[in-house]
Amino acid sequence: MRVMKFGGTSVGDAARFQWVADLIAFHRASEPRMVVVVSAMVGVTDVLVQMSQLAAQGESTWIPTLEALRKRHQDTVQALSLPEEEAQALEKDLQEGFGRLETVLQAVAALRELSPSTADLVAGMGERWSARILAAALRARGLPARAVDADAFIVTDDRFGEASPDLESTRARARAYLLPMLEQGILPVVTGFIGATPEGRPTTLGRGGSDFSATILGYVLDAEAVWIWTDVDGVMSADPKIVPGARTIPELSYIEAAEMAYFGAKVLHPRTLLPCIDRRIPVRILNTMNPQHPGTWIVPEPRGDGRVKAVTLIKNMSLITVEGRGMLGVPGVAARTFAAVAELGVSILMISQSSSEQNICFVIPSPSVTQVVRALRKVFEREMARRDIEDIWGMDRVAIIAVVGAGLRTTPGIAARVFSALGSGRINVLSIAQGSSEYNLSLVVAESEAEEAVRRIHAAFYEQPTTGA
Ligand code: ADP
Ligand code: ASP
Ligand code: MG
Repeated sequence: MRVMKFGGTSVGDAARFQWVADLIAFHRASEPRMVVVVSAMVGVTDVLVQMSQLAAQGESTWIPTLEALRKRHQDTVQALSLPEEEAQALEKDLQEGFGRLETVLQAVAALRELSPSTADLVAGMGERWSARILAAALRARGLPARAVDADAFIVTDDRFGEASPDLESTRARARAYLLPMLEQGILPVVTGFIGATPEGRPTTLGRGGSDFSATILGYVLDAEAVWIWTDVDGVMSADPKIVPGARTIPELSYIEAAEMAYFGAKVLHPRTLLPCIDRRIPVRILNTMNPQHPGTWIVPEPRGDGRVKAVTLIKNMSLITVEGRGMLGVPGVAARTFAAVAELGVSILMISQSSSEQNICFVIPSPSVTQVVRALRKVFEREMARRDIEDIWGMDRVAIIAVVGAGLRTTPGIAARVFSALGSGRINVLSIAQGSSEYNLSLVVAESEAEEAVRRIHAAFYEQPTTGA
């Protein structure tokens, strides 16, 4: 059994749906037990999120946006030239979906209130439409495809917007739902991104979460592999949009791929690999538009040496500093700092502390800066009054760059190479940390210099005579 997931970039318009349907038909000929997972058409989730925010603010501009979105889907269906009956049924189905969306947004606008679960209900609508469109395109090719909404069996907690699956409940429900379909020779086309709480309230798995949906299903259905189809030739040594000379990495370990995803390689949702590790399910990343390319295999024990594999980047971060000469004498500053941040539910992406214990620096997503600084100033009110802690502040517009690879453990001189690459470009490093897994070296630079920093570090490992460290 194989799960194949197609991202939004693979289903941007009717021609792409046709292409993807052909690819699925081709692969299903040799693997009849297959589950397809699909994302919303590219850009649709962004528009849905914007619309719900506009409605909550009482703006009426969501109305023309909804019409444009409806038209985009209708035009796609028309351009598919489906058999008459199929086209009519699909259009009716989509109209119902859009009618439901309109009703929900009207209610949000009337109340000027958007609850987290309503936000997730709206954000996840694009997947429901694309799954129906893809299933229809597949049936038009004679494949017994059926669109399936994953909220029927992906059971999650109630952290709306970033929900986590309950794998055991999901296992029981998904198997009861999908295995009989597979037995009957049906090809399920499952919505990515969405789930529901045990009470049936709609949730989403976080932006980019369809990759995670695919591996969750791979895990619960005991798949032999999960194939993730996207718009690049696999996982690459850097984002090809930043480094045009980036190369495909043929094989990666789970840890390396997870570190890359965690530190910003958008090609994979950060939690994608979690369900696969225990059962050692291989994950393959492939390019929909270049399907002959072998792409990347993410496996338990990759072949080859442990080199520096990739350079990643996350923007829109802030660096928080807690500083003071008297900190040395105050017990538990680090513990109290991190406890206060955790209490706010804000995740810390990177930490570094100077050995003199005169400051603690950590990186968080920029939107949380004000609340975090305010909370810390309150926690350390007394220490600040005594001047043991002199200041607590946030520096905005910074980025984290991570150098990832098993080679960091075994190869000396990697940090030196990274710093000389940055030094020759006069790029200032604001903070450094070596991940405890020793699979990454991460550093903070100003956002304005970040892309240049990625290009320079990439060149130091991939374009110089002694490639790869
Ligand atoms: P999908 O719609 O298939 O989920 P995404 O846009 O979420 O596609 O992810 C694919 C994009 O990830 C690529 O177009 C690429 O720009 C970006 N990306 C960032 N880092 C990497 C990397 N190291 N390797 C490959 N792609 C990357
Ligand atoms: N459509 C969702 C998003 O844009 C999920 C995904 O694409 O993986 O975040
Ligand atoms: Mg994605």
